Amino acid sequence: MSKRILITGGAGFLGSNLSERLLNEGNKIYCLDNFYTGFKKNVEHLLDHSDFELVEHDVINPLPDLDVDQIYNLACPASPPHYQQDPIFTTKTAILGVINCLELGKKTGARVFQASTSEVYGDPLVHPQPESYWGSVNPIGIRSCYDEGKRVGETLMFDYHRQHGVDIRVVRIFNTYGPRMNPEDGRVVSNFIVQALKGEDITIYGDGKQTRSFCYVDDLLEGFVRLMNQDEVTGPINCGNPGEFTMLELAEKVIAKVGSESKLTFHPLPGDDPKQRKPDITLADKHLSGWKPAVKLDEGLDKAIAYFSSVI
Ligand code: NAD
Ligand code: UDP
Repeated sequence: MSKRILITGGAGFLGSNLSERLLNEGNKIYCLDNFYTGFKKNVEHLLDHSDFELVEHDVINPLPDLDVDQIYNLACPASPPHYQQDPIFTTKTAILGVINCLELGKKTGARVFQASTSEVYGDPLVHPQPESYWGSVNPIGIRSCYDEGKRVGETLMFDYHRQHGVDIRVVRIFNTYGPRMNPEDGRVVSNFIVQALKGEDITIYGDGKQTRSFCYVDDLLEGFVRLMNQDEVTGPINCGNPGEFTMLELAEKVIAKVGSESKLTFHPLPGDDPKQRKPDITLADKHLSGWKPAVKLDEGLDKAIAYFSSVI
């Protein structure tokens, strides 16, 4: 059945892909964004659709009075250089944005979905990370505006649920990549691909032996929609691809796929950069009808490389 859906951060990487998918499934979409790290061009192809509405708004302010069935809260800069550029604004977005979504959920009865993050586990001492792990987070470092902001976001979700009965869903997203990432976003997959395509040096931070697990965007969004549209669990639920790679392995794959002459260069590791990260997806498998990522890194990189070649 068609639903009225508000997507905050809808002009960003994940938000624009989610807006397109849910619009194509016959829903009415209110795509809300302040264009801090997102772009109107990400949703330009949707603007003529009668069921698509772009709303320019900052989630740190109370949300417009929209009568909706579901709210996906994705508004928040996600790339470390961008969320560290104005850390106070990032914390305000992470916390006030969730409060404003939950207030609208309380008023309308809409189900509220929060895009949380594997950063709630910080620099994890448990590997892989299950949802039951409470994390190892520095509260006063350069990543804290984002990590602690997202942790308080989860707290608010569960307090509104317990105190006001708001219907909630919380996903913890592990590093995701794909089309509509900003080429200048600063995250590792986009940086390496763009550098390789331009024949520039590949910037490895630290010794490159830190690990991440990379999920292709379509797999992640399938997890979002399954979590949002089931009635059994609130989460938090990890969604990510358990394939784990060092940054050196990622760089070598990208260089080989692009056929680039780029050389590896080594740069200081930013503060509090997690050493390892890999999702335990047992709960997603159990509660989201056997959800598992289908796209392996090699296949996803091919698609991402094709995208970045077309836009730079
Ligand atoms: P993105 O930067 O491309 O998108 C974020 C969007 O939110 C942008 O369009 C931006 O303009 C908008 N925004 C930021 N602050 C806002 C504000 N105050 N008011 C209104 N809009 C605002 O990043 P993304 O990768 O698409 O991430 C989307 C969400 O998913 C974020 O909440 C992020 O924390 C979460 N997440 C993403 C990943 C990932 O790997 N992509 C991992 C973990 C969590
Ligand atoms: N990284 C890197 N070179 C880059 C960008 C990032 O080596 O040009 C490293 C970064 O230090 C981190 C990993 O890649 O260890 C993932 O970084 P990203 O910013 O994509 O995500 P996050 O650290 O938030 O997981």
